[in-house]
Amino acid sequence: MRVADSIETIVERGLCTGCGACESLLGKDVLRMGLSPEGFMRPRGQRPLRQDEQKAVMQVCAGRSQTGLATGKTVPHRIFGTMLHLAKGHATDPEIRFRSATGGVLTALAVYLVESGEVDGILQVGVSADNPLLNEARFNATREQVVASSGSRYGPSAPLKDVGALLDSGRRFAFIGKPCDVATLRNLARVDPRVDLQIPHMLAMVCGGNPSIAATYNIVRRFGEDHRDVEEFRYRGHGWPGPTYLRVKQGREHSQTYDETWFSNLTYELMFRCKICADGTGEHADVVAGDCWVMEGDRPSHREAGDGWNMHIARTERGRQLIEDAVVAGYIHEEAFSVAELEAMHDDHGAKKRSVLWRLAGLALTGQPYPDYGALRVVQSGLAASWRERWTAFRGTLARSLKRRNRESPITSGTFVADTKTS
Ligand SMILES: Cc1cc2nc3c(=O)[nH]c(=O)nc-3n(C[C@H](O)[C@H](O)[C@H](O)COP(=O)(O)OP(=O)(O)OC[C@H]3O[C@@H](n4cnc5c(N)ncnc54)[C@H](O)[C@@H]3O)c2cc1C
Repeated sequence: MRVADSIETIVERGLCTGCGACESLLGKDVLRMGLSPEGFMRPRGQRPLRQDEQKAVMQVCAGRSQTGLATGKTVPHRIFGTMLHLAKGHATDPEIRFRSATGGVLTALAVYLVESGEVDGILQVGVSADNPLLNEARFNATREQVVASSGSRYGPSAPLKDVGALLDSGRRFAFIGKPCDVATLRNLARVDPRVDLQIPHMLAMVCGGNPSIAATYNIVRRFGEDHRDVEEFRYRGHGWPGPTYLRVKQGREHSQTYDETWFSNLTYELMFRCKICADGTGEHADVVAGDCWVMEGDRPSHREAGDGWNMHIARTERGRQLIEDAVVAGYIHEEAFSVAELEAMHDDHGAKKRSVLWRLAGLALTGQPYPDYGALRVVQSGLAASWRERWTAFRGTLARSLKRRNRESPITSGTFVADTKTS
């Protein structure tokens, strides 16, 4: 197996997740996160890295390794991993439930942690103060701030770019991010003991992949608007799943359904790293939450369904206790949800996980590096794939690699230019 050995390789071979931990480790004078020409959040190099700097980044980077949590005595589900607790539920606060991406479980847990004094604040992603189409990492210490950062942002974010400074400040905080962001934090915990002491809870959303900012600009353009005029933008939320919503400074408003955004002919360049991800369901997190879609026959439906419902999983004893405490304190309402329902509802993640082994085989055959997925059961899941799934995944990645479509611009190159990259 060939893992990447430098940050240049991680970025140029499409393995970077964009989390920003490298900027936090080395400082802005060395690496600074910014939009790459492909529209992803990537480290932009200010100078060549020394060997000790490369080593510090490689110890932590999820583009190199994402090996999973030790599961103890529990036998993990082949696809969905360790589940100490599985339920469906929602925030009891109607405002949180309405505004959030789904049922507001992640936001309600975060508000509970802040209001109970368990943590000083939450490190999470919110809408950028300068540009409503972009995201920024926030340290939120009040209910209002946490609720304002609720919702799913299907675009580049670098939630860990200031995590070192927060650890230096001595504050105790929880983290919410994508599964790969949490995986990076777990890697950091192996070399920085402050992580386990100061970040008692790591929460993640289920993630099917994060697109380029080009996808967002395409949505704006499809409405016939100019990205420079946008004043407010939501991918979903304000209902469940809630429309994609846009308001421009001239006062015009536009919206379209979840399926019109994600399942029409929109070009939405997903990161290559997301295509080979073995952890869409947040196995490194204490708690992970996803949609609890309404089923129509054996298929999940994305039609507007009123008040949102999450399905959520506790991966660790700490996560299980957090959910129990939040239920007892009245922040979350829960109902029973079975593994069979999870398997049927989120089989997109089943198919994805089954494909990873065959995608990695395509990379290996063409001499490309790929992440070390350690205990994430890539082989076990891959052997459960049908011959058709195996061939499709292998052939697709092989072709992509031969055509160099896993490659991204070097870390020394320029930035995303909205008007030339959208289609
Ligand atoms: C890129 C992406 C892909 C997703 N794919 C799936 C999927 O395949 N299946 C599924 O069931 N659900 C998916 N979701 C998750 C879903 O949209 C909800 O976030 C999840 O159900 C949790 O709902 P909630 O109401 O508890 O979240 P909320 O209470 O609204 O909280 C969402 C939290 O996510 C954080 N956040 C939002 N966007 C980002 C981001 N880009 N990076 C880091 N943190 C972020 C916010 O800061 C907030 O804390 C995806 C979300 C994203 C952002």
